Amino acid sequence: MQVGTNQNIKPITTKINGDGNIEIGGCDLVSLAQKYETPLYVMDEETLRSVCRDYHKAFEACPEVTMLYASKALCTLATSKIIASEGFGFDVVSKGEIYTVFKSGADMSKVLFNGNNKSPDELMLALDLGVGRFSVDNFLEISLLNELAKSKNKRADILLRVTPGIECHTHKYIQTGHLDSKFGFDPTQVDEAVSLILEECPNLNLKGLHAHTGSQIFETRVYRDEVEILVREIARLNEKYSLNLDEINLGGGLGVKYIEADCPPSPYEFAQVVLPALASNCEKYGVSLSKVYIEPGRSIVSTAGVTLYTTGSSKRVPNGRKYVSVDGGMADNVRPSMYQAEYTAQIANKPDAETFEKVTIAGRFCESGDILINEIELPEIEEGDILCVYNTGAYNYSMASNYNRVEKPAMVLVNDAQSDVIIKRETLDDLISHDIIPDRLK
Ligand SMILES: *Cc1c(COP(=O)(O)O)cnc(C)c1O
Repeated sequence: MQVGTNQNIKPITTKINGDGNIEIGGCDLVSLAQKYETPLYVMDEETLRSVCRDYHKAFEACPEVTMLYASKALCTLATSKIIASEGFGFDVVSKGEIYTVFKSGADMSKVLFNGNNKSPDELMLALDLGVGRFSVDNFLEISLLNELAKSKNKRADILLRVTPGIECHTHKYIQTGHLDSKFGFDPTQVDEAVSLILEECPNLNLKGLHAHTGSQIFETRVYRDEVEILVREIARLNEKYSLNLDEINLGGGLGVKYIEADCPPSPYEFAQVVLPALASNCEKYGVSLSKVYIEPGRSIVSTAGVTLYTTGSSKRVPNGRKYVSVDGGMADNVRPSMYQAEYTAQIANKPDAETFEKVTIAGRFCESGDILINEIELPEIEEGDILCVYNTGAYNYSMASNYNRVEKPAMVLVNDAQSDVIIKRETLDDLISHDIIPDRLK
């Protein structure tokens, strides 16, 4: 079976160059750090495109499969443009994501709006910009979207977001968290929701069902069960209400390889489970589907991204642990402090060495929990080394904050020995640009 790009820890263009430094996309990381300063997010275009192509190749036998990139993993104009050029649509969850994707020039009919508490404002913007599908999550949204669509003389094409726990009580991985989820209609509410749409919402056009089982999934069995649950539910609803629902959305969740121990399935393995499950269940339940959406987020952008930091002070504490501090941390990558996420790193200016030592990479933010990597073997670090943390393309910039009033880093896109800024580094004036001193304090 073909190896998936998401099964690499590092971008596929990562090499050690003639100067003994790491390069990505033909760009020496030490030179990038000098030119653009650190912390610096680096995105490798070739890796990003390669993942998108993996998905296309994996599902090419089934033209009904439509890929929507889940923008919440990383949403910028340039990356959206690349992902759209690879034939993907988008899954969006806010006005900001809708606007970014729109401004990047995406075909809005290939955009699906998702979320458990969409505001009237957000729904209006989505209707105005011609977003192709709404994944309707709850009763309030059914009435609200119907009213708003009516006021604009439109009919919104919708999927119903359901919890995939439906009739799947035997599977622990779905049970934990998913029957008890803040997202979607649970099995006892689906009929009420469908009746409400059919009887009272002429401005909603129900096309099918949507589910999402979770994230950083390593077990393809989850998707096999999900396909059956959704296809069976479509058949039941079609029969009971004389409908022709013919769309399902399987959500995202395919994992990536942050550390050696991670073994995520490739898009090929994912397809090898999903495609036969679709064929057999559609036959078994007499359903014919015109669209099967998948919404990968993390697996599209994670591997393509790395973050460069400059090392600063270091110290050894009495128990022997050595802390090395870097010039970024939880404000540019909150995942380690939020859920103990693990990462792999190398020193870009000396990837190889005779001896390695165990260190803890500490962030610069004022929280004891701001530890980027708890324990890693690296060549002996000196002040001013460039640390390259791998697999930071997803849920790093998109979750970044200005904690401690630190400017958010820049992001550069590298390809073919060329580097271009795609997000400018914030300035001190950016940081205060939304602050106001009321007149009475002047
Ligand atoms: C978060 C999310 C995704 C993407 O998940 P990844 O793990 O990043 O692939 C897709 N669909 C929905 C509905 C989501 O909430």
